[in-house]
Amino acid sequence: MPHAPVLGDLATPVTVIDADIGVGEIEALIRADPEALGLVAVDNGATYVLDRPYLDNVLAGRLGYGRALMFRRPARSILRGPALVLPAATAWDDAARAVLNRPSGSKSLPVVVSFDDGRLGIASVGPLVEHLSRRYESLAQDDLLTGLGNRRRLAEVAGDLLAGDDRPIALMLVDLDRFKEINDELGHARGDELLRQVAAVLAEAFPAAVYRLGGDEFVVLLDEPGDDLETLGRRLLRDIQGPFTVAGVPITVEASVGIASTRPGRRDLGDLLAGADTAMYAAKRHRTAVELWRPELAAETATDLRLLAELRTAIDRGELVLYYQPLVGARTGKVESLEALVRWDHPRHGMLTPAAFLAEAERSEVITAMTDRILADAVRQAARWHRDGWRVPVAVNLPAPVLAQDRIVGVIAGLLAEYDLPASALKVEITESAVMTRPERSADRLRAIRELGVRVAMDDFGTGYTSLALLTQLPLDELKLDRSFVHRIHDPRERAIVEAVAAMARGLGLTLVAEGVEDQQTADILREAGFDVLQGYHFGRPAPSVETTQQAA
Ligand SMILES: [Mg+2]
Repeated sequence: MPHAPVLGDLATPVTVIDADIGVGEIEALIRADPEALGLVAVDNGATYVLDRPYLDNVLAGRLGYGRALMFRRPARSILRGPALVLPAATAWDDAARAVLNRPSGSKSLPVVVSFDDGRLGIASVGPLVEHLSRRYESLAQDDLLTGLGNRRRLAEVAGDLLAGDDRPIALMLVDLDRFKEINDELGHARGDELLRQVAAVLAEAFPAAVYRLGGDEFVVLLDEPGDDLETLGRRLLRDIQGPFTVAGVPITVEASVGIASTRPGRRDLGDLLAGADTAMYAAKRHRTAVELWRPELAAETATDLRLLAELRTAIDRGELVLYYQPLVGARTGKVESLEALVRWDHPRHGMLTPAAFLAEAERSEVITAMTDRILADAVRQAARWHRDGWRVPVAVNLPAPVLAQDRIVGVIAGLLAEYDLPASALKVEITESAVMTRPERSADRLRAIRELGVRVAMDDFGTGYTSLALLTQLPLDELKLDRSFVHRIHDPRERAIVEAVAAMARGLGLTLVAEGVEDQQTADILREAGFDVLQGYHFGRPAPSVETTQQAA
C-alpha cells in the first residue's frame, strides 16, 4: 500500500550554514549548487531559511546595501524571521495548513524539514497548496451527509455519459413527500438520519448511480435503462418506503418520482433535470407517485400554479414581510450587518419561508416584482435605522434571474437615491448558480453594482459548481461559506479543507463569513480558523424589524 504523502517526500537536502560566515561565502555555496532552493542558517538554536530569490536579491545588491559592503557582513545580518520547521513525517494536509497559517508575507517561503536522524531538508510550498486545492475540488463533489455524489459530481458524470454515443440515458428525480414535517416534528438531526438511511438503500438498489441534489432530493442516473421506466420508478419507491427506524420511531417514507430520458438531439443534463422536475411535480399534484416527462406536463405546469398567481397579489397586498438576521463579528461579537430574509404572511397557510415559494417564483417573471419589493423594503428599513443612528448595513439576496437583468443596477441606484441611504449600508448576496451560466456577464453587472459602493457577497458557497478558480475572477467583497461546508470544521480530516478555503479567501482579500453557526464551540473554532463574521441561530434567528430594533437598543 502506498503510504499517505508526507512532507519528507517533498524535501531536498539543504546545506546548513552557521550565522557567523560571511555573505561572500554564501555566494560561493549557492553558485556551487545551481539547483538548491536556498540555504538554512542556524543561529542561537533558531532556524532560518534563506531562499534563492531572496539571496539573488541580496547578492545582486538590490536590497540597498552596496555589493562590496554586503559581502563583508556576516550571514546573521541578512536573516529574516525564523523558518517554519516541520518533521519529515508531517502529513501534507497538516503541512499545507501550517504553511497557509503563516503571516501573509512569509506564505511562499520554503519549509524546513527535519528528519529523524537530525538532517535538515527544504521543501517548496507550491505542491502543498496545489494538493489542498485538489482535495477541495474532490471533496466538493461529495455530499457530506450521505456520502453520495452531489450536484457537481452528477454534472461531471452526466457530462461524460451524455457526450458519448447515442445510448439512451434516463434521470429519475426522487423527492420525499412531507419531509419538512418530519424535520419539524423530529428535529433536523433526526431528519438527517432518515436521509442517510434512505440514501443507503438507494445506493444499494442503484449502485454508483445515485446523487443527492440537496435537501430531500435525490437523483438516479441510468445508462441504457430499458423501456419500462415507470416500473423502475415504482420499484424504487418500494425500496425506500421503509419503515426506517429513527431514534426509536418507525418512519414510512413516501416519495414522488419524476423521470426524463434523452431524446434525439436533446442530450443535456439541464434538460433532463428540468424534465424530471416537471414530471416530479406532476406526480405530487396528481398523487400518482411516478410520472414520466411528456410535453403536455410542461403546459399543465404553466397553467396550474395557483401559489404563483397568489404571490402576485401578495406582493401588492403587502403580504411579503422582511425578517432580519444578525451577522456578528467573530472577534468583536458585535452585529456587523443584517441579512434581510423574506417571509410570506399567507392568509391561509400562515408565515411561509422562502422554501415554500422561492423556487417556483424564480421560474417565473414574478421574481422580478418580488425582488424589487424586497429591495425597496430593505433599503427603506436600513435608511430608517441609519437616521436613528444605527448604521448597520443590510444585505439583500439577489436571485439568479434578477442578476441576469441589466436593469437591476439602475433599480438599486434609484432606491439608494430615493431613500437617501449611503451605498455602503447596502449589501447584495448572490449565489453560485447566478454566476454559473454566464460568469463574464454576471461579473460585469456585479462590478457595476460595486461601483455604486454596494458590497457584494457570494452566498451559500460550497454547494454549487463554482471552483476556487472562478472565485478569483468575480468582483466580490465577501464569501459566505455554506452551513454544510462550515460543519466540516468539526472533522479533523476535513478541517484542512475549510481552512484552505479560508486562506484563499483571505488571499483574495475577501471578508469570510460562516453560515449556520449554532453553538459557541463552533464559533470558537471558526474564529481560530480565521473567519471574520459569523451567522446562525447561536447569534440570533431571523426576526421582524421591530424586534431587531429592540435588540439593538
Ligand atoms: Mg443569503
